[in-house]
This record gives sequence, C-alpha cells and structure tokens, in this order.
Amino acid sequence: MKKKESMGVQQVICMKGGVGEGSYARNSKSQAALLSKSMPLLEQAVLDLCCTTLPESVAIADLGCSSGPNTFFAVSEIMTIIYRRCRQLGRSPPGFWVFLNDLPGNDFNAVFKSLPTFHEKMKEENGQEFGPCHVAAVPGSFYHKLFPSRRLHFVHSSCSLHWLSQVPPELLNKQITNKGKIYLSKTSSPALIDAYASQFQRDFSLFLKLRSEETVPGGRMVLSLMARRTPDPVSDESCLLWDLLAQALQGLVSEGLIAEEKLDSYNAPYYQPYTEDLETGIENDGSFSINGLEIMVLPWDSASGGQNYDRPTTAQKIAKSMKAVQEPMLASHFGAEIMDPLFKRLMEIIAADTREVEHVSVLVSMTRKA
Ligand code: SAH
Repeated sequence: MKKKESMGVQQVICMKGGVGEGSYARNSKSQAALLSKSMPLLEQAVLDLCCTTLPESVAIADLGCSSGPNTFFAVSEIMTIIYRRCRQLGRSPPGFWVFLNDLPGNDFNAVFKSLPTFHEKMKEENGQEFGPCHVAAVPGSFYHKLFPSRRLHFVHSSCSLHWLSQVPPELLNKQITNKGKIYLSKTSSPALIDAYASQFQRDFSLFLKLRSEETVPGGRMVLSLMARRTPDPVSDESCLLWDLLAQALQGLVSEGLIAEEKLDSYNAPYYQPYTEDLETGIENDGSFSINGLEIMVLPWDSASGGQNYDRPTTAQKIAKSMKAVQEPMLASHFGAEIMDPLFKRLMEIIAADTREVEHVSVLVSMTRKA
C-alpha cells in the first residue's frame, strides 16, 4: 500500500504540459524571474569550473527541467559562459552533453520539439563552430540514481527540490491526520510538522548522496528551491497559499462536489525548508563544500511578471500559475472535472483576502570535494 502510494506521487507530479493557455510553459513567469536572479551566482560557479582542466566534453545535467522556456534557460547560459570563457583564454572550447531530467510524466515531447530552435539559437549566439552539443532526456526521479558514477561536471536544478519523493509515510498510513488541510498550517500538530521535516531531510540527504556519486571531483552544483527565512515551519511565508487552496477545496466539500474523506486523504508531497536546514544537510553529507548561498525574494505579484495589477487581477494570475503547477497532481486525486471550479474558487478567495506574502527561495552553489 505504502509503496503504491509513493509510486503514485512520482507518476503525478508534473507541471501542465504543452504550450496552451494553462500550460506551465505559459505560466511560469515567477520561476523565470528566479532563474534570472540566480544568474550571477551560476555564472561565478561556471567561471570557477573553467579554471579547472576541462574535459573534451562537458556533461551538464538539469534536474527537474519541466517543459517550456525555462527548460533550456540555465543549460544554455552554462554552455555559453564556458564557450566564451575558453575563447577568451585562447583554449579550444569543449563539446557538451546536456542531460535533461524530469519525472516520466513530464512533457518531454514538447521539449524535443523545441530542440531545433535551441540548437539554432546556440549557434546564432556563439557562432557556427559552437558544439557539438548532444541533448538527452533522462526520465526518472532525482531521488534515484540517474547517471553512472563520476559522470557529471555541472549539475543544476531550479524550483524542483521542494517536491518530496512522497507524502510523509505517517500521513499515508494514517498514523497522523491533517483534517481539511493539504500541507502544514497554523493548526498543524508537532507530529505533522516533524513528519514533513523528516521526509524532507531524508529526501535531501539522499539527493546529495546520489549526486555526490554522479559528479566528478571538482564538479559544481547549483540548486534553487522554495525555502523559508524563518525557522517557523508554519509561517504565512510558506503556508499561506496552501491554506487558501485548502479553503477552496473545503468550499467544494461543502457544495458536495468532493467527498470530505477525499480532502482528508490528500496531502502535498512538498516542503519548504529553513535555509539553515539546507546548510546543515550539506555539511552532514560532507561531500560538497558550499561556495555561496543566497536568499532570493520575489514580490507577492510576481506571477503577473511584476506588473502592478489590482488585487482581483493578481489573484487571477496567482491562481493560474498555481493551476499550471498543481493541476495534474490534484486532478489525479480529485478528478479532472473539479479543476475549473476549484481554481475559480481559489481566485475568489485570494481576491477577497488582504494578506500578501513574498515568495522566498534559496540558491546554493557548491563544489564536489576531491
Ligand atoms: N526547472 C524548471 C521547472 C521547475 S517545476 C523551472 O525552474 O522553471 C518543478 C519540476 O520538478 C517539475 O517539472 C516536476 O515534474 C519536477 N520534479 C519534481 N519532483 C521530481 C523528482 N523527484 N525527480 C525529477 N523531477 C522532479
């Protein structure tokens, strides 16, 4: 039972595919803004890598690549920086292997379709001699081994590691309940908070262990994920939007559109850690040294691309971007037919509320120790 549930999580976490109106590709402005903010630290990490002896072919992995404009954002920057730096130094630039990883449900077809444009753009920006650049998809969970040992020179992952490998087992086997809620909230019991924190700790340490095996000594890894600036795991900063989504689901329960038990048995495989917990995790693992850690903050209305809209319009944009991320997961549990009423309700709840929270992420750059 437990095994089946946890496999289920891996099958349903995926952003809304395609390039349509509701797709992740068209509703990932906040994530794109975070990627832009992470560029200075990413650039530094790449330049540092260029100070080492580069192999003939540099292997770069992007973990949790999704589909849409963000998929190639970091890998193209990484390759461009390496290519230009080598040129500047009069060294002959390496070729590249790019490994795009996400869960098997990801819309890899959309990614493949955009490959010719990507190759063209790389040549346009860097010159026709750029390459060779081989791109491969690696479908699977980054909580499993994805690559042979000592294969990767640069690992990047943005906005993905807050997704857990599974809902904490204590919730799956009903040792703990989370009535009417879908994540941590102000009313969470200490046992629930502990269950979520421990699941994250186990997942993050497994992630580090696997990547430490797959990365060459001296290789770099740059990760960003949603995080908290406060040790309080139930602050609005990390829980408000989940609480409002739970309220929308409760509304559908009272309308009889979903059964109460359905809501009670749904919990998000998600955790927003305190930044210091990450540092502790990396130190405990011991195979990476931290080169830099930054907290990145986006404004409440970042989903609207920083435009100053009124509350109802901002509410609509936030609900839409949450739908692009969560719809496949929620639909597989509650049924696809309630997705439109659910997110319409969420939009109304956000519009009627007056609270605003900033969206906080952490960016950490590290080196695989020799
Ligand atoms: N990196 C992109 C996408 C972030 S969305 C960006 O910055 O915009 C998060 C992605 O992580 C989703 O595509 C989701 O499917 C993926 N993901 C979540 N858990 C994963 C896991 N265990 N293994 C691989 N990918 C995972």
